[in-house]
Amino acid sequence: AFCERSNTIWAMVAEAASKNPDGEALICGDRRLTWRDVAQQSARVAAGLRKLGLQRGDRVALLLGNRIEFALAMFGAAHLGLVTVVLSTRQQKPEIAYVLTDSGASLLIHEATLADRVPDARDIPDLKHKISVDDEARASQFSDLVENDALGEPAEVGEQDTALILYTSGTTGRPKGAMLAHCNVIHSAMIFASCLEITVADRSIAAVPLAHVTGVVANIMTMVRCAGALIIMAEFKAAEYLKVAARERVTYTVMVPAMYNLCLLQPDFDSYDLSSWRIGGFGGAPMPVATIEKLDTKIPGLKLANCYGSTETTSPSTIMPGELTAAHLDSVGLPCPGAHIIVVDTEGRELPRGEIGEIWIHGASVIKGYWNNPKATAESLTGGFWHSGDLGSIDKENFVRVFDRQKDMINRGGLKIYSAEVESVLAGHPGVVESAIIAKPCPVLGERVHAVIVTRNREVRAEALRAWCAERLSDYKVPETIDLTTEPLPRNANGKVMKRQLRETWAAAHL
Ligand code: ATP
Repeated sequence: AFCERSNTIWAMVAEAASKNPDGEALICGDRRLTWRDVAQQSARVAAGLRKLGLQRGDRVALLLGNRIEFALAMFGAAHLGLVTVVLSTRQQKPEIAYVLTDSGASLLIHEATLADRVPDARDIPDLKHKISVDDEARASQFSDLVENDALGEPAEVGEQDTALILYTSGTTGRPKGAMLAHCNVIHSAMIFASCLEITVADRSIAAVPLAHVTGVVANIMTMVRCAGALIIMAEFKAAEYLKVAARERVTYTVMVPAMYNLCLLQPDFDSYDLSSWRIGGFGGAPMPVATIEKLDTKIPGLKLANCYGSTETTSPSTIMPGELTAAHLDSVGLPCPGAHIIVVDTEGRELPRGEIGEIWIHGASVIKGYWNNPKATAESLTGGFWHSGDLGSIDKENFVRVFDRQKDMINRGGLKIYSAEVESVLAGHPGVVESAIIAKPCPVLGERVHAVIVTRNREVRAEALRAWCAERLSDYKVPETIDLTTEPLPRNANGKVMKRQLRETWAAAHL
């Protein structure tokens, strides 16, 4: 036995290894690990981390793509009671530097290919170690860590201790570190497993980035909970996804709607045998009804289940039972067991059933706060209810609907772009007076990023502004199209930029 408890991420890994030691666990490219391998290799990572001098509560940052080492590092860190800070491989140097500094990470484990985006250790006060991971796993510094001897006992970790920090942006423009406790993660993994009826016999694909909450919880931790198999795709390409799903007889996935749209756009979609696929969770953005209908026709055995959630709720807040999807296409599902969802007015007063207001969520999956940021914590949580920023309603039968957002955010195929973050980067350009980031509609991705930028003169070029953003922001946050003007932006009586008017002006010119 690896562990006597069941209240931490490591304990769940140990349980998977004792329940299904020889069962396939993590599969990536031509590597196939069993649950016994996963537990042993993660314990070795923990031994290596201990040897580096890391101690319970220290932060380990991961700048890794979708690969087995992502999970091994996270499990190894959990074994030692360390906190895993997750970075996205799409982040640029200034974003990475901010997260490393804010989280006080003492170790960064990064893709060798991203070395040029890793800030100089002298600029990050707490960063003492860097370990690179190569595709040639045997040649990478990570394998030195794995092959360490002297395995130690798992640390004394409590379920309320922070396991992971995932950064999310917000209205302030500065990312905030959502602290996911062990119990949040365990609860959410159990919710996916029980609401979607996932078992040890299931085979899943992680095609979304592991660095997002869906990847960590719906993909990795749900399969740990069930001790089923998880195929990790290095990156999502629809043609490759269909090939792998058919070859590996995949049964369960959770993806964003844009990924389903892209799969359906494959001309040879019908030639793949996807008959093993029984549960298709989707979330992160609204799913077009036409996509649901097409999937229903093409894969008759597939139950599609809407999963509404966020980083701050450790993924799911509502899940639609698959058999009810067709009858409730306008709803994101029922509150998950352990969740209490209310709809409030602008003063935070609970509204009666059926009325539209902001959705607030309370319960076992909701974070206690943001790392090192009591102000953001106080603004986003009231009595344990997290303010989602989404506008919706709950009907008498408990079905939740999400209509719109009050947060100024663009949802590009499930990836979120907070306007304030892009606007503040643009404001740093000497030729920019002010800017407004707005969503423009896209049939595949849902929304794309458009910028209306007021420049000091007509000399400033859109391409130069895109390049300015690309050096400072993740690629998907860079405005794809830009309208330049020297006229001031339209504002209301309170001085707020009227984004709805800008969206209508864009639509009138383009649709
Ligand atoms: P990930 O980080 O894995 O992309 P996520 O999209 O669930 O996870 P966030 O990035 O925190 O989490 O975004 C949460 C927001 O995404 C919600 O507040 C809501 O606006 C939107 N969203 C999430 N799920 C749905 C859904 N099923 N339908 C409509 N909108 C959704």
